Amino acid sequence: MILPIYIYGHPVLRAQNAVVTPDYPNLHELIENMKETMYHTQGIGIAAPQVGVNARIVYIDVDVLAEDFPELKDVRMVLINPKIEVDENASPVTREEGCLSVPGIHENVQRIEKIHLTWQDEQFEQHEKDIEGYLARVVQHECDHLEKTLFVDRISPIRKQIIRSKLNNMMKGKVSCDYNCKVAPIKRRK
Ligand SMILES: [Zn+2]
Repeated sequence: MILPIYIYGHPVLRAQNAVVTPDYPNLHELIENMKETMYHTQGIGIAAPQVGVNARIVYIDVDVLAEDFPELKDVRMVLINPKIEVDENASPVTREEGCLSVPGIHENVQRIEKIHLTWQDEQFEQHEKDIEGYLARVVQHECDHLEKTLFVDRISPIRKQIIRSKLNNMMKGKVSCDYNCKVAPIKRRK
C-alpha cells in the first residue's frame, strides 16, 4: 500500500523513534509499504517517520544511480536499528541532496562519506560494514531521519535563509508535490 509522505513541519518528523524488536506489530507489512511508497515517489531511500511511523527502520535502493556510481548496482538494504560511526579523519564531501519530506528543495550538504554501519535485517540478524562514497551519504541522510534531523538542518545559514520562506510555506501546508502527502496539522490561535 502506498502511504502518504509526511512533510517538513509535521511533528512526526521531529519525534523520538523507537527501537524495533521482533514483536513489532505488522513489521513486514510496514516494510513492504515503505518500499512501495518509495518506488512510487521515486526516492532512493525512506525512513519510517516519513510515512508517519516513529520506528527505527530505513529502506534504501540506490540501484537507479548505478550509471553514475557503478558500485551502487543492485544495492538494496532494509536497515533496522542502524547505528553509524563516521570516520572523522576522512575529509568532508559536498553534494546536493533532496528529500521526499522536503519537496522541491535541493541543497548542498557537507558530509564525511566514510562510515561504519551496524544494523539488523528483517530477520533481526546483526550486520556490520564499512561504507564509502555516495551510499555512505544516503545512509547518513536516512539515519538522520531517525534522529529527528532533516538535511535542511545541515545546510549553510545563508542557504537556509534563502529557502526560509519555502520552508515556512511547507510548515503552513502550502506545498506542491506529485505524490500523496501529509502536512502539519493547522495550529489554531486561541
Ligand atoms: Zn529524507
